Order: sequence, then C-alpha cells, then structure tokens
Amino acid sequence: MTGKKDFLASTLYRSGLNRLLRSVGSWHGLVTVNYHRVGNPRGSYFDRGVWSCTTAEFEKQIRDLKRNTDLIGIKDLDDAMRDPNGRYSIITFDDGYIDNYEDAFPILKSLDAPATFFLTTGFLDEGNVAWWDDIAWMVRASLRKKLPTSPWTSEIVFDEPHRNVAINELLKTFKVLPWNETRDFLTFIATASGTGRCPHPEVDGLWMNWDMVREMRQAGMDIGGHTVGHPILARLSAEEQWCEISVSKARIEAELGETISAFSYPVGQPDCFDETTKLLLKQAGYDWGFSFYGHYARPGHVDHFDVPRVPVDPYLSRNRFRGLLTLPQLFATS
Ligand SMILES: [Zn+2]
Repeated sequence: MTGKKDFLASTLYRSGLNRLLRSVGSWHGLVTVNYHRVGNPRGSYFDRGVWSCTTAEFEKQIRDLKRNTDLIGIKDLDDAMRDPNGRYSIITFDDGYIDNYEDAFPILKSLDAPATFFLTTGFLDEGNVAWWDDIAWMVRASLRKKLPTSPWTSEIVFDEPHRNVAINELLKTFKVLPWNETRDFLTFIATASGTGRCPHPEVDGLWMNWDMVREMRQAGMDIGGHTVGHPILARLSAEEQWCEISVSKARIEAELGETISAFSYPVGQPDCFDETTKLLLKQAGYDWGFSFYGHYARPGHVDHFDVPRVPVDPYLSRNRFRGLLTLPQLFATS
C-alpha cells in the first residue's frame, strides 16, 4: 500500500493536480502531524525509529504546512473544529527529547509556526531512559549473537545485519505485555544480552529541561501532557492510569504556572487507551486527547479525546507529505 500511495502522490504532484485540488478546496478539517525527534540517527545506540526526519526535511514540511493550511495552536482548536470551511493543521511532538528544543524550535520560531510539545514528565525530572531506547541500547551494546528463547519470545538473532529486526521484534512484544510484566521482560533482555540495563550516564542530556520548556512556551509554543513514565495506559488499572494522567498534569502546570488542556496517549494506537482513559482525562481537566494511528479530523465529527494524528517518519516522501495536505482522505491513512 505504501508503494502505491507513493506512486499516486508523485503522479498527483507531477501532473499539477495537486495545485488544482488545493485551489478548489477538496477537504475541510484538521490534519495533525506528529514528530518525536528530528535530526540524523546515524550511529545512535538508541531507538532509531523515533527520528521522524532530518532538520532540512522538517523545515520543508513546516513550509508546506504553512502554504497549504492554517497552522494553529491548542487554543484555536475548538473554533477550528466548528469551522465547516477551514483547512487547519497542528504540529505536535511527543516525549520531550532535547532535539525538540535545540533543532526543531529554532526552525519553528524562524517560520513563525506554532507547535505543541507533549512531555513525559518523569523523563524530564529524572533523566531516565525510555523503554524503547533502553531496549535498542541493550541490543546494540550486546556482544552476544542471540537472545535465547524466553516466556515472551522465541530465539532472536542479534548480530548484524539483524539488529534492527531484533529491536523491532522486542519493541513489538513489549507493547502488548501487561504493564506489570514489562520490568521482568527488560530484566530478561538485560541479563541475556550481557549488557545490563542502559546506564544513566548514557542518557545525559537526552531530554529537555524545564527552562527550555518555559522558553518555548513564552515563544508561543503549546505544552501538553504525556504521562509521568510513558506506560501504555490501557495496560494499567484505573488507579494507575489516574496517577499517570493527573500527576504529570500537575507537574507541568507547576513548572509553567498555568493550566494545560491537551494530552497525547503514549504509543496512541487504538488499543493503547480506552474509555476509562478518556474519562480520566476529562476528570483531570483536559479538553483534548490526541491519538496516533493516522486519519484527519472533519469539522463537527471529532471526538475530543481521540483527535487523530498522522505519524511523520523517514519513509514519508515529500510528495506524500504534500499529498497529505491536499488529499488527507487518501494520504492521512496508513
Ligand atoms: Zn511517546
């Protein structure tokens, strides 16, 4: 499907149909794009899958968004979703990586483009490694050739060129585990890989600090919640979900000195949050919850606690990105 859509996108662009569709206004609503990290992952021991694009591509994409849509922040979202004739977009970042501040923020500022940064407060406060980066680090740092069979996985080959496949397989397994099993799973990888868990100094400087967050806010960026420790909320009890949602909200509000109204669900697939999660967000005082499985929002048809977002990844070509802003009915789906 990806190949077919890439072909369609480049045909659309080359034939000039793109311009035509844009001028007749083929869609109305909101396209929200999501990034994690920008820059070049080459050589990193961490999860290279969370780099969305290079800074050069990022700048081009922001220009495309500005040219084709009205870029808005969270405060304008309610009005935008009531406007039957608008074409809006929101730029979002998840997790709180340092490159959001060092590399993306200067580009956003120079282009006068607002964006929303959803923060995992425990990462900023404690400087802990995220579970996906921990898994990638253990696989890459391991001198062993394979991981033996375990209660969770069959034998996984580690040595090159299989490392990326091994990382993806372990991440996939992690994401479906009951949360109270995830610690044992990480301990198993740490022991069987011979590396131990990713040591704290490796993570130094990986996350933004609160001064950076305040500076971005003062420059017109929006800040939102993304839990304390980045668990997959639907794998937790209601009490645990409440703790993750409410504590992270209070933490961000204390640092900013103002309330926040938007949240993004960790991992964000349909099975990663549930009706309880949505209810708890509302109870905590949130107005919006963002998911992460594609699609765009049509005016009058948006669930406030399931605002769709489209992932930006290195496989998303420029034409496909432009297609997303011209014909999201087709290109906002995976
Ligand atoms: Zn996240």
